[in-house]
Amino acid sequence: MSKAYIGMGSNLGDTVGYLKQGLTELGKVEGVKIIGTAFIYKTEPIGYQDQEWFANTVAEVETSLEPLKLLKVLQDIETKLGRVRIIRWGPRTLDLDILLLGEEEIHTPDLEIPHPRITERAFVAVPLAELVPEMLLEGKKVREWAEILSKQQKITCTKEKLC
Ligand code: ATP
Ligand code: CA
Ligand code: CA
Repeated sequence: MSKAYIGMGSNLGDTVGYLKQGLTELGKVEGVKIIGTAFIYKTEPIGYQDQEWFANTVAEVETSLEPLKLLKVLQDIETKLGRVRIIRWGPRTLDLDILLLGEEEIHTPDLEIPHPRITERAFVAVPLAELVPEMLLEGKKVREWAEILSKQQKITCTKEKLC
């Protein structure tokens, strides 16, 4: 079993509802156990700005699944919850990214672990810092990235959790 951290985001319709449904679906998968989640954050869109704010969080899970199998599981949940890919970084009902998976380091076109943009995004680094503040990524602790990025990007903690 490995610990994995799954980045979750939604900015269409009932955003928190999609995060909840996504977590419920993830919890039903054989070989995946939900350990906990960070708070839910409301964050401004980056990359493609002409869209609604996002609801974001990070889930901590334990899994026996291989990396590519876990990716497939996440993509199937996104599709089940109505995700349609039109614009890169555009609006979505649910986005599920593998941020970290055990000690895995994978650099392929279809899968990169650790996720390469954790250290650019407050909406990932801030919730992840609640769960693994001392973990080192690209020379800094996750909590240091969270502090730096939250000064550059708008992010508000709702103080609510999915579980
Ligand atoms: P970003 O990757 O910048 O967060 P995104 O989540 O909007 O962008 P998607 O359209 O959801 O991008 O996914 C594009 C591709 O990213 C997927 O088809 C998948 O193969 C690939 N990918 C690479 N690494 C990962 C990862 N760690 N978790 C999820 N998808 C990944
Ligand atoms: Ca993403
Ligand atoms: Ca994604």
